[in-house]
Amino acid sequence: MGSHSATDTAPLVDSFGRVHKNLRISVTDRCNIRCFYCMPETVKFLPHKDILSFEEIARVVQVVAAAGVDRVRITGGEPLVRSQLDKLIAMIRAVDGIKDIAITTNAILLEEHAQRLKDAGLDRLNISLDTLDPKKFEKIARRKGLEKVLKGIAKAQAVGFKDIRLNTVALAGITETEIVPLALFARQHNLTLRFIEFMPLDGDQAWQTDQVINGESIREVIAGEVCELLPAHETVRSQPAVDFHYADGRGKVGFINSVSSPFCEACDRLRITADGRLRNCLFGTEEWNLIDALRSDANDQSVLEIIREGIMKKKAGHGTDDVQFKRPQRAMYQIGG
Ligand code: SAM
Ligand code: SF4
Repeated sequence: MGSHSATDTAPLVDSFGRVHKNLRISVTDRCNIRCFYCMPETVKFLPHKDILSFEEIARVVQVVAAAGVDRVRITGGEPLVRSQLDKLIAMIRAVDGIKDIAITTNAILLEEHAQRLKDAGLDRLNISLDTLDPKKFEKIARRKGLEKVLKGIAKAQAVGFKDIRLNTVALAGITETEIVPLALFARQHNLTLRFIEFMPLDGDQAWQTDQVINGESIREVIAGEVCELLPAHETVRSQPAVDFHYADGRGKVGFINSVSSPFCEACDRLRITADGRLRNCLFGTEEWNLIDALRSDANDQSVLEIIREGIMKKKAGHGTDDVQFKRPQRAMYQIGG
């Protein structure tokens, strides 16, 4: 085990002046469903010994929090399949400087975990939901589960989670018919719906440009068929979503147009994979090995220096629209979306 010791507290700035305040941690590469845009049908998961322990994750959080990171998002794979996740939430909650802890989940297990997560100090939830049609759900997720997701959402609201976001991956040939029902559902249940463009990070490596529906065209459908939309001026610069208010005051809808309109110049994120690698970009092809440092006698300053090096190497943009673009080796479930 490495020694815990004082670290420098300079902000985590990259060579373009972007200050990193947002840590995304993948706690597992496993999942209880198999969304085709993320995982292959047959997957070889990481062995347990190669996955960061809660103590190791909490140590990384402490190290980066001292350097100004104040927001943490837990993701995966499916984070709720990691046992006793509420314990990790409580450990992160106890770290000085962390203001906001969120989780991204498919909500299949949320009904049984919502209360414990709330009690542990989880602030916010993003729930992935691409359709309200059970058959389409099964086609996308290659597993059943819509009913559980809906129960999970209801339970999360019942235990007091507010401002829950629904994330919908926009998929050509599938999502067109889902836009209006999802928008109406979100308005009815007081949820903020966000459409994410399909990115070339699917495990099957079958992504093609013509499968992307751009956020702008979805916005036009909603404005035409649901309610007029007004730009939300309070959109935070580092936030990838472009938000709109419904003109009748009944909620918001957002668009993460990562393919058609990348938001790299305001990116303040760093990522840790379940097997303890630092990534400075979803689409990056380079990783920095933290797990070996954490399992050696390296002190906290040495761990921080590896993180600083990864941040300094961050590129200006992800370059998916570049002809030279090479997709990363790992798919979304292995990186932590
Ligand atoms: N299992 C959890 C879930 O689905 O919410 C968390 C991990 S999942 C990888 C995180 C987010 O990435 C989900 O909202 C998912 O829909 C999204 N995602 C996965 N593959 C994607 C892709 N190829 N393009 C865009 N979004 C993707
Ligand atoms: Fe699992 Fe989330 Fe990937 Fe779907 S998007 S396969 S729920 S990790």
